[in-house]
Amino acid sequence: MKLIIASNNKGKIREYKQILEPLGYEVVSQKEAGADIEVEETGTTFAENSQLKAQAIYDMFGCAVLADDSGLEIDALDGEPGVYSARYGGLDKDTERTALVLEKMKDVPEDKRGAHFSCSICFIDETGEKIMAEGKVFGAIAYEPKGENGFGYDPIFIYEGKTFAEHTAELKNSVSHRANALKDLEKKLGAKQ
Ligand code: IMP
Repeated sequence: MKLIIASNNKGKIREYKQILEPLGYEVVSQKEAGADIEVEETGTTFAENSQLKAQAIYDMFGCAVLADDSGLEIDALDGEPGVYSARYGGLDKDTERTALVLEKMKDVPEDKRGAHFSCSICFIDETGEKIMAEGKVFGAIAYEPKGENGFGYDPIFIYEGKTFAEHTAELKNSVSHRANALKDLEKKLGAKQ
């Protein structure tokens, strides 16, 4: 059975293939499926946005679909940047957005710098049944960017003493919000079989 991933991000697609192919799905990217659409993320939660993306592709093709939405939530900023993580402050570059976060956090003491990444996955099977899965990873905001790996807010997100950008991809991919959401999905799909 064909399963379309509502993303063209190679890293994400590889991770999803590893979990979903053993369950009998032939995993293809949005582009490979010929569904090169950009769905507007108008939801106010990660779950709403992942559902918007999955539903739009399901409505076009009527086959199984998986979409995700993720971002960084900072306690001292009332959950910002949240669903606006990719366009925080209207800024275009990752380095500008991390600089904005560091500026807003400059007077926040060490013990109040808690933050987490969240990921919501929406899976719709070929009959239209929807399964929602979620994952988080908890850490803290650094005072300055460090490390070269990863992307987005990784250089300012401290997980167990180092930023995500200083950790290896293997470590990050085994503990991340996306990994945890995938584990949740795997459990829910396994329970159905
Ligand atoms: P998306 O869900 O892949 O569209 O990600 C939304 C935005 O959240 C990205 O543009 C990043 O700014 C941020 N983000 C999501 N996941 C991560 C991550 O693993 N590391 C760093 N930033 C992330």
